[in-house]
Amino acid sequence: MDKSAKQALERLRGVLGVARSISDSHDEGELLDLISTSVCEHLGFGRCIIYILEPDCNFRARSAASLANAAPVELPDGYKIPLAAYQRVEEVAERISGAVYLDGRSPMLADPEIAPHFVSTPSRAGEHGEWHPASLLFVPLLGEGSRLIGLLNPDDPLDGKLPDPDSALVLESFASLSSVALKLVRANSEAAARMRMLEAQRQQVARLFEASTTLQREIQLDAMLAEMVRTMAEAGGFSRVGLMLLEPGSSRLRVRATYGISPEQVRHLLDNELDLDDFAPMMRPEARISRSYLIDHTRFPIPDELVAALSVPEVRSDWKPGMWHPLDSLTIPLYDDEGTLIGLISIDEPVNGLFPEPYHVEALEYFADQCANAVSQVTRFRRLENLAHTDALTRLPNRASFMSRMIHSLAECMTREAPASLLFVDLDHFKEVNDSYGHLNGDVVLRAIGRRLRTSLRTGDLIGRYGGEEFVIFLPETPLPGALAAAEKLRKRIESHTAGLAEDGHLKATISIGVATTADLEPSELQDAAQAAKRLLALADSALYQAKAGGRNRVSHDFSLKRSHQYRFTIPSGGARLRHLA
Ligand code: GH3
Ligand code: MG
Ligand code: MG
Repeated sequence: MDKSAKQALERLRGVLGVARSISDSHDEGELLDLISTSVCEHLGFGRCIIYILEPDCNFRARSAASLANAAPVELPDGYKIPLAAYQRVEEVAERISGAVYLDGRSPMLADPEIAPHFVSTPSRAGEHGEWHPASLLFVPLLGEGSRLIGLLNPDDPLDGKLPDPDSALVLESFASLSSVALKLVRANSEAAARMRMLEAQRQQVARLFEASTTLQREIQLDAMLAEMVRTMAEAGGFSRVGLMLLEPGSSRLRVRATYGISPEQVRHLLDNELDLDDFAPMMRPEARISRSYLIDHTRFPIPDELVAALSVPEVRSDWKPGMWHPLDSLTIPLYDDEGTLIGLISIDEPVNGLFPEPYHVEALEYFADQCANAVSQVTRFRRLENLAHTDALTRLPNRASFMSRMIHSLAECMTREAPASLLFVDLDHFKEVNDSYGHLNGDVVLRAIGRRLRTSLRTGDLIGRYGGEEFVIFLPETPLPGALAAAEKLRKRIESHTAGLAEDGHLKATISIGVATTADLEPSELQDAAQAAKRLLALADSALYQAKAGGRNRVSHDFSLKRSHQYRFTIPSGGARLRHLA
């Protein structure tokens, strides 16, 4: 066996020795270091750099090794080899087996478009040896479908010579072994990323489950959605996530939670009315992946109006086809349990600049489902809560709900020492309405009066259905004269409008109102808002009794109460009875 064949065999043996450790490697950086070191230690080169092709179409040095007796690798800051420059070198280069060799004296390396991208490095052969300091040797690292994924760049051969075809073949096999190892490591790290994402998701579910018993309020929903979009962005590797919900009963979308969007941009999104229809171009069936829509703007252009409304960020200067572009989008629809669309999540700017893989989209959809569940849960709760607090006939707050709101509002008045008044409203001779027109028509009257009373109030005033045909109205910040005037206005309004009985339209209903005010209470009764509220109710009720006794269709207040004699007010009196207009 001649010397060079012996050397090649020796090298092959060395390489096979590292092959095992290479395939055991779990970390890409570690693997690349192992490869570059092995090229130096076993394949007869003073230095070796490994370049990896990045999504921006530049090769960047990811690992460099040099032997102790060789000049260390020194690359300028931010050094990169553009793919195009490499391809031009490759065109004129010589092939030695699978290796690409360009002599350092080649005129190509004097080309001003090429020269700055390749550095001349010290060589033990010197300027006049077979291997010139500027000579280039690359062994391509090939991925799936022989796609170029990187370059092995051995330099400064120990024998000062060009590689012979045998050693070039060893280099080539070593490069292909390295490519496979790289692919494995990447698959592993993808699997690891997937695992991390699933784990984050599992924790999220656990947290959500814990929260679900308390997840009843809007404020908790907001906190949960914020947490969810944050996790989607961080675990999923995206810089921007926005969650929009459809306003109930409309096609308007409202931004509800965001991640990576500045407050100004959020304001911009809130100011611009977003409609579901606007998103149609982003949710076209051809762009569907799993349950989501992945838009590549080069295939599916986005209308300018939508771009303006969404405040799409600037295009990065190094953008190249194949990379994620600000006009690209991933939209995940949100559905409730009944399959009704309730909103959508828009995801942008993958940190790695690449389009998400389908499994990635699916994982994001799990999060979206959880957001949708949370929203449905709160909506359901709100509906139940409304049911529990609302009177079914008049849609006004029921007694319990009115009382708690009144106590709250009264407490606020009491802290500010502001007056407040209560009106107790009762329909006059309502039994007769029922008797003459039937209960169903009685209901219609009751509902119409409830609506008329409610729409006659100021904001901040509270109304509730207290019992059968009785309403209560709380007027915060209102002293007796104001309360009496308000009551009188209500009384007149009801008296002068037919109550809406469809049958003949002739019915006129009247109301009597008892008024009580905080000035009627002793200071000792104004210590506690709940006590004070009860006392006001009792006083208003007894004033109502007086109004009834005084002939009905009137407003009454007990002026005998000590503290209110300072007020003067004439109690108007109206017609006494429920009347049928001729
Ligand atoms: P007064 O002027 O003294 O208040 O006479 P009134 O007939 O209104 O008084 P009363 O308290 O004796 O009767 C109240 C009536 O209101 C009895 C009941 O039939 C009627 N009512 C109470 N709740 C409802 C309801 O939800 N729907 C209907 N249609 N009627 C109701
Ligand atoms: Mg009545
Ligand atoms: Mg009554």
